[in-house]
Amino acid sequence: MASLPEKYLACVLDGPGKPWALRHVPLEMPQDHQVLIKVECCGLCHTDLSTQAGHLGSKVSWPTIPGHEIVGSVVAIGQGVTQFVAGDRVGGTWHGGHDGTCRQCCEGAPQGCENQIINGVSKPGGCKSLNKKLQA
Ligand SMILES: [Zn+2]
Repeated sequence: MASLPEKYLACVLDGPGKPWALRHVPLEMPQDHQVLIKVECCGLCHTDLSTQAGHLGSKVSWPTIPGHEIVGSVVAIGQGVTQFVAGDRVGGTWHGGHDGTCRQCCEGAPQGCENQIINGVSKPGGCKSLNKKLQA
């Protein structure tokens, strides 16, 4: 397993209406129940443009790295993760996590979680440099 860089080149949105900005950002290691993915490719869709335009309101954690159509491989694993191992090829979607405690989660519908985590909106997404070097 290759060592991980301290920073990686990402496409960043600093706030509503701001332009796309390509710059180096600190690499954050996965927290409990999270994995870190080395992105191989990431789609760009209309929702990313809505994020940039500010149409998602308070759901956005500014600045954000857009992109919720992610394909890559697992390069680091947080505590409590049992479903994945380093090197697994995975996909990331709009749904980036749920709290497991709200009414929706308790009724078996975590995709409707009242505190849903959204890749590329409330946590960093998959838009990164096209550089082929390891940049998780
Ligand atoms: Zn929930």
